[in-house]
Amino acid sequence: MNRSYFCPHCHGLLNPGTKVIFVIANPLNRGLLLLSPELGDYAVVLAESFPIEASSHYDFSCPICHHDLTSPANANFVEILCRQPDGTQVRVDFSRVAGEHATFVCGPQGIRAFGEHAPRYEPVNFFGEGDLTRRSDG
Ligand SMILES: [Zn+2]
Repeated sequence: MNRSYFCPHCHGLLNPGTKVIFVIANPLNRGLLLLSPELGDYAVVLAESFPIEASSHYDFSCPICHHDLTSPANANFVEILCRQPDGTQVRVDFSRVAGEHATFVCGPQGIRAFGEHAPRYEPVNFFGEGDLTRRSDG
């Protein structure tokens, strides 16, 4: 059993196949972005017509409900939910800055960081003091 990723708003499944699907947009373009479900794997599949400029921000939204997926913890991040192979649910926050490889996984076991750029951020911010249960309703 692999990881299943869910939209935190509609709880729709974001990886019905082998990739995690998002809609991304900037003021000029809009398209589908496919990411690996493996934590720390930053290989990206993108429509060729959609130019990615390093260091620019892209707006990620749910392909099902179209809700903005910007993390409430940090505006540089996207936040989704993940059900792990052992059945536990965690929050996954990853950078939405093109070329920046930083992912934080926040769950019952604490926070794990992935990606060579994760040290740019303070992991503690992704758990917010006194806020450990804010997504426990999912
Ligand atoms: Zn959704």
